[in-house]
Amino acid sequence: MARQARPRAAVAPGHDSALSEPRPELERYYQTLFSALGPQRWWPARTPFEVIVGAILTQNTAWTNVERAITNLRREGLLSPAALERVERRRLERLIRSSGYFRQKAKKLKEFVRFLRRDFGGSLNRMFRTPTDELRARLLAVHGIGRETADSILLYAGGHRVFVVDAYTHRILARHGLAGSNSNYEEIRALFESSLPPDPATYNEFHGLIVNVGKNWCRTREPRCHECPLQPFLPSTDADRPEGATT
Ligand code: SF4
Repeated sequence: MARQARPRAAVAPGHDSALSEPRPELERYYQTLFSALGPQRWWPARTPFEVIVGAILTQNTAWTNVERAITNLRREGLLSPAALERVERRRLERLIRSSGYFRQKAKKLKEFVRFLRRDFGGSLNRMFRTPTDELRARLLAVHGIGRETADSILLYAGGHRVFVVDAYTHRILARHGLAGSNSNYEEIRALFESSLPPDPATYNEFHGLIVNVGKNWCRTREPRCHECPLQPFLPSTDADRPEGATT
């Protein structure tokens, strides 16, 4: 039965001092999750371009909805930059309808392939040869590409050393007192990047492991801490445990 306990008040509102120093224990979180859950093989895609399409389509929707859209695009021979740029917008909208917000997402896909052609001659290899910080800034300037999408593209399609932060990441860190509820994306990204070895393969696997924990144990309501591989890392006092945690 769920215990009622107060969530940890990690930091005071405003400046997030919890994130100003590296946290070496994050490497132990990674080792523990990898030992418990094994390789996650995330991102589920056949090509770097498919990663990019998936990263755009997965905004605000579950991955299962994206899979149907990608299957449609593959069946129609549209999983290439040139084909996506050529396809008529209405047809594209119909094919990706399952991913939700399909009109906006069709526009975003079109904007990305236009950017790729205009700035890099349509070549993903050329694009990914750009230094990380410069490419990140250029991706963020494309309509519809926010931080999580840009970093997913950089890490999972391009092998750049950038940690991807999502809602699961934020929730887990907050519940463990490593971030505050007001911590922002860049603070959390910098925390991971300063605390872990500079290795894209580790970043790749760790994000996949976090997604697994978020889906299976660290739910919004009633986290299943008693079964979770990260349970040993929870704050030790009742007052510090996440609300609804079962231990
Ligand atoms: S479910 Fe509990 S132990 Fe697991 S990550 Fe969330 S807060 Fe931590």
